[in-house]
Amino acid sequence: MAFGPARGQRTPGARHVRIRYNWRMLLRRPRRDSLFEPRRQGRRWSFRPLVRLAGVLAAALLVGWLARDRIAFYTAIYEGRHAIDRREYVKAQEALERAWILRPEHPWVHDCAGFLFLKQAAPGWRAKARSSYSRAVARGLRSNPFVNHIKEARRLLDAGAYEQAEAELEHALEMAPRSAAANLLQGQVLYAQGKLARALEQYQLALALAPRSAEIQAALTRAQEAKSHGNLPYILDRTGQVLAAQDLATGTPVYPCDFWTAHVVGYRTPDHGNAGLEEALGDTLRGNILTLTIDARLQRIADAALGWQKGAVVIIKPSTGEILAAVSHPTFRPSLLGRQWAKINQNENDPLRNRAFESLYEPGSVAKIASVAALIESRADVSRIFPFRCRAYLMIGTEVFMDWSAHRTVGSFADAFNSSCNLAMAKMAPLIGAAALTQSLRSFGFGEQDRISLEIPVTPSRAPLDADTPYKLASACCGLGTGFRITPLHAAMLAAAVANGGVMMAPTLVREIRSVTGAIIQEHTPHVYHIAMKKDAAAALTAYLTDFVSAGLGRKARMLRVKVAGITSTAGAPRRGLHGWFVCFAPADKPELAMAILCENGGTGHGVAAPIAQRILNEALR
Ligand SMILES: [Zn+2]
Repeated sequence: MAFGPARGQRTPGARHVRIRYNWRMLLRRPRRDSLFEPRRQGRRWSFRPLVRLAGVLAAALLVGWLARDRIAFYTAIYEGRHAIDRREYVKAQEALERAWILRPEHPWVHDCAGFLFLKQAAPGWRAKARSSYSRAVARGLRSNPFVNHIKEARRLLDAGAYEQAEAELEHALEMAPRSAAANLLQGQVLYAQGKLARALEQYQLALALAPRSAEIQAALTRAQEAKSHGNLPYILDRTGQVLAAQDLATGTPVYPCDFWTAHVVGYRTPDHGNAGLEEALGDTLRGNILTLTIDARLQRIADAALGWQKGAVVIIKPSTGEILAAVSHPTFRPSLLGRQWAKINQNENDPLRNRAFESLYEPGSVAKIASVAALIESRADVSRIFPFRCRAYLMIGTEVFMDWSAHRTVGSFADAFNSSCNLAMAKMAPLIGAAALTQSLRSFGFGEQDRISLEIPVTPSRAPLDADTPYKLASACCGLGTGFRITPLHAAMLAAAVANGGVMMAPTLVREIRSVTGAIIQEHTPHVYHIAMKKDAAAALTAYLTDFVSAGLGRKARMLRVKVAGITSTAGAPRRGLHGWFVCFAPADKPELAMAILCENGGTGHGVAAPIAQRILNEALR
């Protein structure tokens, strides 16, 4: 018995059945036979996807062939645009020329060419960009998908390129005069140019177009504040206090912190030139806002503590190298320069000179920071030198080495350090050795190639790196001799290096530069300048320096609740007037400030400079 027709036998009526091929099946996925059957199992190879792919490719080729000119044109413009972004201007020009040959009348070509001229900023760029842009507009440009002029103008503003931003906005407003964003940016260009009245009008217009924009409101508020103060600030201290601003009525600079920051901020005069940051960053300052690492409060404290004393004070934050204060005495009033130029310029005390960064002085015991660091790291046994009797002179070879005082019996290294006995140092000099001393001095930034780089001039210090006789070595260990000169800035950096565990950070004056939009153009990140000494050696030296203030010669810098680590020094010739130094950091266990005080022809370091440090620290660490 069989079910169905037998083999070879036709089913009745089968000839009427036709297989109708359904073309839609091409687009359908092959169905799975059962829900429970795994998808891949037993699946047959299918040509359908390949057929589909071939169809799509053929269609694309056909369309491409029909639109080949158009595609070449778009590709050329696209390439040109991206070459501009990568600053490959020659390549951009080639690509745009290709596009121009294909469709010379197309507005996008002219628009992109104008943008290329603007970004390239070669001589005469402004006229070229303007004529290209007006050609584009004349050929009916409404917008260009390859260049968003408002967005580009904002980018240029963020980078502080105000003239280029202005040209870009002129074009953007030509196409879209009722764009709130373009009007806001135009207002910011005017603000950066110091045209406050027109900036205010522009902001009002932008606000009318977009009444809820917080950004426009903020810009308007700032401009109104500037109007009520009558000036536009462009240099601020680290807390936001204004150090330099442009007077709106006269267009001349005003310096609200006056003589306190005169040497750093400098001045700008029509008749007598420029100085300080005004001179160094002249172009960068136009329209931008500079924030310094200087703290105007510390600047005033240091100025008051120095009083009538000629000299300098430099305060550094040890962990970052930021210069918190740099005072030079005598100082001058920038506002009086115009009227009293001759009197100020010809003053024999040279008030225009920035002693903090530019004047060199013999370091004396300040240099013991480097020589004692070398001694500690050498692990030499100094105990056999002590005790000895200091009679204020010592024969080294055939030369007489003089101490600044007869210290009588010097019992130990601590005793010698605390009384600042140079004879003890001279006796220890051979234990350090010339090579180790030179190495240490280089580590503290005394190398021939070492130049402290700040925005304003800094004179390089110099040290005897070739102490080839025992006498020269002894003198070098005590920071003496004509070959040894240091700026107050560098002296503060020595203290800061010890305070920071032996790591000397690169000194900084400018913290950041922002454009008128508030975007950061330049920002300083703290970085290491030198590894001056090992961490444990820095800790040992800190202990000696703390002892020097609490129980040694630096007693006049002692504070009630805060431990101060420091060293005094008296250098220079007695007849012409001694230079008194005090170099310190505080609190000794968790340093916030490192400081150098130099009293030019002021007397001894322990007598004159140490009390000034105490006054500054009392106020500063409150
Ligand atoms: Zn002595």
